[in-house]
Amino acid sequence: MAENVDCVVIGAGVVGLACARSLALAGREVIVLEAAGAIGTETSSRNSEVIHAGIYYPPGSVKAASCVNGKELLYRYCEARGVAHRRCGKLIVATAQQQVATLHRIQEQAASNGVRDLRLLTAAETKLMEPALRCVAALHSPSTGIIDSHGLMLAYQGEAEDHGAMLALQSPVTGGEIGVEGIALDVGGAEPMRIFARWVVNSAGLMAQRVAAALRGFPQGKVPPCHYAKGNYYTLAGRSPFTRLIYPVPEAAGLGVHLTLDLGGQARFGPDVEWIAKIDYDVDLRRADGFYRAIRDYWPGLKDGQLAPGYAGIRPKLGGSDQAASDFLIQGPEDHGVAGLINLFGIESPGLTASLALAEHVAQIACSN
Ligand SMILES: Cc1cc2nc3c(=O)[nH]c(=O)nc-3n(C[C@H](O)[C@H](O)[C@H](O)COP(=O)(O)OP(=O)(O)OC[C@H]3O[C@@H](n4cnc5c(N)ncnc54)[C@H](O)[C@@H]3O)c2cc1C
Repeated sequence: MAENVDCVVIGAGVVGLACARSLALAGREVIVLEAAGAIGTETSSRNSEVIHAGIYYPPGSVKAASCVNGKELLYRYCEARGVAHRRCGKLIVATAQQQVATLHRIQEQAASNGVRDLRLLTAAETKLMEPALRCVAALHSPSTGIIDSHGLMLAYQGEAEDHGAMLALQSPVTGGEIGVEGIALDVGGAEPMRIFARWVVNSAGLMAQRVAAALRGFPQGKVPPCHYAKGNYYTLAGRSPFTRLIYPVPEAAGLGVHLTLDLGGQARFGPDVEWIAKIDYDVDLRRADGFYRAIRDYWPGLKDGQLAPGYAGIRPKLGGSDQAASDFLIQGPEDHGVAGLINLFGIESPGLTASLALAEHVAQIACSN
């Protein structure tokens, strides 16, 4: 592996790989350092695989802009590169009359974000689309879709490598030092070494704060807090009675126990929200009762024994359980004062949808300095 390199991307999740692709396409020399033995083994393979429309995020936020722009880029990319996906649409359902006002608010917020294709449906109209659903009204989002997230990561990796990027697996960044000429990174693994980079993109997901804090010379006051909000999933035994994604009105820290489909038509429910202190992907079996209760609110036909524990993912949140939802934080030299370093913090949902937009932004910072 080269010891002096133009750009290092830390982390081969969907966002790190998208950044590597954008930098390589811009003609930059790129090495991706990944701690695990394969790409996308953390949050990027533990999510709902939904292409979000950009409905819920506060207007003007990085999440709103990167989701709405990222969605369009992603659909075009999937079509051009043959990444499996489906624009299946989604319904956000009000199961009680007092929730209808929330649907109106969501529709207005979506419009402020540039998402103007949401349509408010009556219970009868919704029933024609999804006969098994119980609701008093619903919002239909036709631009929401689903995607093969692993296929997407392989496409990003392939294109980055075609443009000269290198991926080094089992290469954890253990620390480093900020210098005048660039950043020195200590890389562990079978053959520990030091790499000097002119640019470093810290896209280490759940570990991004830890990586930034381990760089000697980085202003520690610029490392934001990190809180973990686990999301558990349960899968449905048997065929899904739904052909679209079904969401309740959102909760404080998440989108509520919703139904998503994979490209094979398998339905899964979740993620819920469980605040945890350390990384742990086990699904707690005692949470099943809460899932049955939440799902039966909009699908009374769910039978006992139909749910099986699935998997879990962890949201890297910048705010804790008692704080308002935080935005993505992309820190470049102008924000933290360190030349050549870009930190990506708090890249929870909709990071998969936003991956190409976030990567464009990162490449712009690296190419304009
Ligand atoms: C439950 C859940 C559901 C979600 N659903 C959706 C959805 O439906 N749609 C959507 O758009 N988004 C969704 N998201 C968000 C999306 O999954 C993430 O935003 C995205 O996967 C983040 O990608 P990443 O590359 O930043 O992080 P990761 O995928 O976590 O990648 C980080 C990588 O860095 C590596 N790493 C860590 N430390 C080091 C180190 N020291 N040295 C080298 N490598 C290191 C890790 O091994 C990992 O591979 C969801 C997230 C969660 C948790």
